Amino acid sequence: MEWMKAISVWQPWAQFIVLGWKTIETRTHDRFKSLVGQRIFIHAAGKIDNEDNWVRFLTSIQLYWMKLTLKCTPRLQPSLIGSAFVEDLRPLNKGDSEAALFDCSLPVPRLYGLILKNVYIFDKPIPWKGSQGIFKVEKRICRVCGCTDEDCSACIAATGEPCHWVEEDLCSRCALAREG
Ligand SMILES: [Zn+2]
Ligand SMILES: [Zn+2]
Repeated sequence: MEWMKAISVWQPWAQFIVLGWKTIETRTHDRFKSLVGQRIFIHAAGKIDNEDNWVRFLTSIQLYWMKLTLKCTPRLQPSLIGSAFVEDLRPLNKGDSEAALFDCSLPVPRLYGLILKNVYIFDKPIPWKGSQGIFKVEKRICRVCGCTDEDCSACIAATGEPCHWVEEDLCSRCALAREG
């Protein structure tokens, strides 16, 4: 099978992506162009960006929710935490700041954005080493819930039985949920 690719993102940005709060991942280069039209894994790097310049872009409800939930606590163990479809990669401008949770109005450095759609957050992070740039994930993982051949416990907890593969990267629980 064709292994899905992944990009590594510092926390809390990675978490914001899989929560669907950040739909544009910013870069100072356009080297990820090859990802356009593909679904990718979002890898949370074991690093935290301590600059909280995103605070002003979050709504008060999002900030409140962040404080309340553990899901938002940035994990320091590098992990795959979700997946997203890359719709486009293009230069960014001021109007993109809200979707990027980042000020895109400055002319320097030139910012490019991966425009992300149909994002899923995994039931459980999958510990994964990761690396810089684009890397391949050579493991069968459900693109929606993140269950694997080794760990299907979230499906069992939800349905009472283990799932099976319906597509290369889609388990039977998530296929059923999509139909229903
Ligand atoms: Zn699944
Ligand atoms: Zn499963």
